[in-house]
Amino acid sequence: MSVETENGAVKAITLIRNSIDKDRSVDAIPGSEFTIEADCVISAIGQQEEGELVEKERPDHIYIAGDFRNGASTVIEAATDGRKTARQVHRELSGINGYRDIVEISPAPETGRERDYDFIPRQPMPVTPIAERQEKNKEVELGFSEEKSLIEARRCYLCFYNFQIDIDRCIYCLKCIDVMPVNCIKMAKNVLADDDGNISYIETKLWSEVQAIVIDNDQCIRCGACVRACPVDCISISKYSLKTEEI
Ligand code: SF4
Ligand code: SF4
Repeated sequence: MSVETENGAVKAITLIRNSIDKDRSVDAIPGSEFTIEADCVISAIGQQEEGELVEKERPDHIYIAGDFRNGASTVIEAATDGRKTARQVHRELSGINGYRDIVEISPAPETGRERDYDFIPRQPMPVTPIAERQEKNKEVELGFSEEKSLIEARRCYLCFYNFQIDIDRCIYCLKCIDVMPVNCIKMAKNVLADDDGNISYIETKLWSEVQAIVIDNDQCIRCGACVRACPVDCISISKYSLKTEEI
């Protein structure tokens, strides 16, 4: 590895690919060098933490995160821990008291998801043929092309959209149930709402017991069919997003 500098600042880093043997030893692959432009290089190639730093000699403004603090775990857990630590660093250096996570709920006219998206099949991951996988360090899953990534992304159910029925305006015509593509709208009895607005109910098929028509957002595929079918326009869409504020 080498770092190229210009006027005292980092300009690029050159790396070399390695292969791992069965005994876990690492060998550089001759001729596999490549260069990446960079203005900052953080060396993060250690295989074990410096225990003394963690246990007794932790000076002020030295922060630890990820595998260094928690031991080997997944990339997602390491990234989450890094994010928490970054918040801690910012709080201590900027002098703020902390953070407040706020869920913002805003009305949305539509989701942009179309019914046809539900018929898009899962895109198969391109893979290296089995016969070629014996080659050392061969990647098996080759990753989606840009085109396939976009197709796969369309299958997303956009769970940050929530559909609700304004029960005071509902006329119980059941047109929404007639058009639902999955078991997403229920006739309900024993409907209860807690202080946070969460609704619990028991599904019923008996018309004489029905107290409300409710949307089961866990089943909803955001097709918008119920909104278009409702004759009194009492089904609304809300968009949920998370915002963080400094306090
Ligand atoms: S938008 Fe959701 S609740 Fe409405 S019909 Fe489509 S899947 Fe069902
Ligand atoms: S279509 Fe509208 S009015 Fe009719 S049952 Fe569904 S929510 Fe109620």
